[in-house]
Amino acid sequence: MRAARSACRISTLPSVGWRYFGGTTNHWGGWCLPLDPIDFEQRDGLPYRGWPIDRSVLDPWYEKAQPVLKLGPFDYRPESWGINVENIPAPFNGPHFQCGLLQSSTQPRMAELYGPTLKQANAVIVYLHANALHLTADDADREVQSLAVGTLSGNRFTIRSKTYVLAAGGIENARLLLVSGKPDGPGLGNQHDLVGRFFHDASRV
Ligand SMILES: Cc1cc2nc3c(=O)[nH]c(=O)nc-3n(C[C@H](O)[C@H](O)[C@H](O)COP(=O)(O)OP(=O)(O)OC[C@H]3O[C@@H](n4cnc5c(N)ncnc54)[C@H](O)[C@@H]3O)c2cc1C
Repeated sequence: MRAARSACRISTLPSVGWRYFGGTTNHWGGWCLPLDPIDFEQRDGLPYRGWPIDRSVLDPWYEKAQPVLKLGPFDYRPESWGINVENIPAPFNGPHFQCGLLQSSTQPRMAELYGPTLKQANAVIVYLHANALHLTADDADREVQSLAVGTLSGNRFTIRSKTYVLAAGGIENARLLLVSGKPDGPGLGNQHDLVGRFFHDASRV
């Protein structure tokens, strides 16, 4: 038990999500590759597996993300990048292993890359040091109606919008959903008690 605890040290949490403009892209490696189709599938013996969509639904969005992230073409086949798959040694040539390819962003710091554009954009206003605190929903907890925001100096205000996009990072998204909705409720979107479960940290410990 002690070994298991130290293998997933909570002390690494501050290093996996970065709380400033540009988020974790201020710190990430910029290595990119799409999920595999099997990641979306239900698999025998693996409970809670399977998404309600398959990989192909994401493909057009992956393709659009490539230039945004300053990557090459949306093609992750080793042979398309000059790698002769015949030269891949066993056991990495199959059937149990499959060699894949990562692309590396040439400009991975998104705040530097897109900050000036956002500053000049007429249709976007960026508020810094404004912390999302709580989402209030309708009686059925199906539609968000407002977002409470707070600054560290104590200012409080409410935002109402037609559309809300929750993009505060994997851990904070779940935390916000769990503290939102009705005071005595299970949190927003948590009818199945699954929000905040199944975390997996890919960073080094
Ligand atoms: C050291 C390191 C290396 C990595 N390398 C790679 C890599 O090479 N390839 C890869 O694919 N992934 C990598 N990752 C993971 C990747 O960086 C993250 O998965 C990704 O950046 C998450 O994006 P996000 O937009 O969901 O969240 P974030 O980038 O964390 O952005 C969340 C944003 O929300 C803001 N925010 C948070 N809470 C609130 C709140 N309550 N109110 C208002 N704003 C809030 C934060 O300030 C931040 O700006 C790495 C991560 C680390 C830590």
